[in-house]
Amino acid sequence: MSNFGSVNDLSCQIGFMERVRSLLSEIYQNPPKAHIVVYGCQQNVSDAEKIRGMLKTMGYEMTDDIEAADFIIFNTCAVREHAEQRVWGNVGATKNYKRKKENLIVAVCGCMAQEEKTVERFKKSFPYVDIVFGTHVLHRLPEFVYRRLSGSGRIFETSTEFADIVEGLPTERDRDIKAWLPIMYGCNNFCTYCVVPFVRGRERSRKPEFVLEEAKKLIAEGKKEITLLGQNVNSYGKGEEHGVNFAKLLRQINALEGDFRIRFMTSHPKDCTEELLLAMKDCEKVERHLHLPMQSGSDRVLNAMNRRYTKEKYLSLVARAKELMPDIELTSDIIVGFPGETYEEFLETVDVVKQVKFASLFTFIFSPRANTVAAKMEDPVSREEKGKWFTQLLKVQEEIAAEQNENYLGKTYRVLCDDFGSKEGFLSGHTAGCAVIEFEGYKNLIGQFVNVRVDNVSKVLYGTII
Ligand code: SAH
Ligand code: SF4
Repeated sequence: MSNFGSVNDLSCQIGFMERVRSLLSEIYQNPPKAHIVVYGCQQNVSDAEKIRGMLKTMGYEMTDDIEAADFIIFNTCAVREHAEQRVWGNVGATKNYKRKKENLIVAVCGCMAQEEKTVERFKKSFPYVDIVFGTHVLHRLPEFVYRRLSGSGRIFETSTEFADIVEGLPTERDRDIKAWLPIMYGCNNFCTYCVVPFVRGRERSRKPEFVLEEAKKLIAEGKKEITLLGQNVNSYGKGEEHGVNFAKLLRQINALEGDFRIRFMTSHPKDCTEELLLAMKDCEKVERHLHLPMQSGSDRVLNAMNRRYTKEKYLSLVARAKELMPDIELTSDIIVGFPGETYEEFLETVDVVKQVKFASLFTFIFSPRANTVAAKMEDPVSREEKGKWFTQLLKVQEEIAAEQNENYLGKTYRVLCDDFGSKEGFLSGHTAGCAVIEFEGYKNLIGQFVNVRVDNVSKVLYGTII
């Protein structure tokens, strides 16, 4: 409890935002500057939009220049070791900034800040880090900033007791055309390699009315693409009385008025139902793209990963999706070198990749993570050997992608123009699948849908507006 009520109430944190605002105006003549560093997945990018919203409400101005900042916050990722290494290095560099700027506040949040051992290391070896707080208490940032600014000692808050969703936090989005819309948080699946259930907690869904209200707001602001986010969107609404599952939610958002598209990720194959595929097919605003992480093509490895589907089930899902939506594009995640995986089992993955012909693949070498079952499994294959398998898979996928690109030639697509292209005078946009096409055009087309005919295919697709 604080003077404003429970620290988990929005009204309480709004109170802290106001108090920080007045404190900052006493300390600084001009508005102080804040810099956010984001690692990892779209969930983290979406959380960073809330962090930015709260910081701005507190009176900070954003800066891209980390050295100019009075407040630096790292929103970290723990999903693979590589991501963590970058965080240690970059947080370490703030030591020098702190020497130059006495008032500088350094904060660390996100998935690494929810791990016990990691937090201990911040405590002991990074004395210049002022605030460390986990994923469950993101909404309490204003309170932490207030406490630190008003002379409290270093703050470490990693409790997981609060498991509700705080609605209504200020959000400052970083893109004009596309928006992330989280529909649920956490994960209950405990895939044996994955740290997410440990650092993001149990699955909890936002109420459909909040999701719909936010979607309406985004459409009114002129967003043209809304990506619904969740570790496994297919579990949306499970155990809730309202009875709105993910397929129903998709239909409700699709029914909203406006010219916009809907995307979603991630969809766990074990929960990808006929009802969902039918909803996708029926909903004209839902893009023809399904990110369906396969992880492995070997039944033994899938079982050891606790994925709860087989290669056959995966392939039949893909076949059904293609049958219902012949133009659908599939993407996937693959882990190479899971503990105990043999070369023959890896080749089964390659075989499925060749059969499905994914539009693109996100490929990772297995990285042991604290607390996970897989981290304790025997792992006899060397990193070097795994690296060779990884390269082999990338090559196979590159060939498939090049072959797939040929299919675009001569066809016309409705493209959402969302950026400048890689060449002067060119713009870039993507199809209702996930192909990116570049074409000549003026910048006022950014944010609009245009019809583009593909007339040149290399690594990039080039087209002409028609
Ligand atoms: N919830 C999403 C993805 C979460 S993590 C899903 O279930 O698909 C994103 C991807 O990182 C995973 O799909 C997996 O391919 C990869 N990944 C997760 N943990 C990993 C680990 N320990 N080592 C290597 N890759 C991992
Ligand atoms: Fe991790 Fe599996 Fe949950 Fe995805 S579904 S976040 S891979 S545990």
